[in-house]
Amino acid sequence: MLHLIFEYGHLNTTDTALCQFFGTKLGVSMMSSKYIRLDQQLYDYILASSLRESPVLAQLRAETATLPMAVMQIAPEQGQFMALLIKLMGARRAVEVGVYTGYSALAVAEALPDDGLLVACDINAETTAIAQRYWRQAELAHKIDLRLAPAAQTLRALLSDGQAESFDFAFIDADKTAYGEYYELCLALLRPGGLLVVDNVLWGGAVVDEATDDDDTRAIQEFNAQLRVDRRVDLSLLPLADGLSLIRKC
Ligand code: SAM
Ligand code: CA
Repeated sequence: MLHLIFEYGHLNTTDTALCQFFGTKLGVSMMSSKYIRLDQQLYDYILASSLRESPVLAQLRAETATLPMAVMQIAPEQGQFMALLIKLMGARRAVEVGVYTGYSALAVAEALPDDGLLVACDINAETTAIAQRYWRQAELAHKIDLRLAPAAQTLRALLSDGQAESFDFAFIDADKTAYGEYYELCLALLRPGGLLVVDNVLWGGAVVDEATDDDDTRAIQEFNAQLRVDRRVDLSLLPLADGLSLIRKC
């Protein structure tokens, strides 16, 4: 029966009678859910049926999985989604805040044209050395300009260098307490119509957990609340991976 309901994925709100019928038969309220809950089996299915990861990205993911902070790496379907956005936009110039071992940067670089540029910001020489090894292996290092310095400093330097409104795409995935600052700087760097993607905006669900009260969670809650009313941008918050906000500069 459940199969039948999900196969009718195209049903719209005029199909309430049918849904209510199935819901009643199942003893559940089908009409209250506008989302589905992922479990490992369904997540594995998503990857098995849609992930098209390059061999170098797969190798980088495997090596990173052996590191103690592997959880920091973005999800592979998220990398593929960002690559799709970049191709849809025809983006040529991108900036990333938070590189770690370079997975998201490589996913972005793969999607950029050969003369495209990604300015990649991080402060960790050790993890970005791994990143650079894989960027070279993928023969994409020429597209990535790694800046080893506090990201706010690098973003300000780009602005001082006359690069305001010259970027098509930005990705923020570093220290959460600085999200507000990175947001303003990236917004200034983006051209009108440019896209900013911000990671971890659901923070493992902590954003709605009243018992959680730490600096990172508060910073993300404040960031989300300010974004909600920021009329300078168009907004969509996707429950992809750990929550991804898509922000288009008007
Ligand atoms: N996007 C990466 C990926 O796909 O694997 C993951 C990034 S990881 C969650 C966050 C990174 O932000 C770390 O590599 C850390 O060194 C970096 N970081 C933390 N504080 C920073 C700062 N002030 N400026 C630049 N990078 C910073
Ligand atoms: Ca992240």
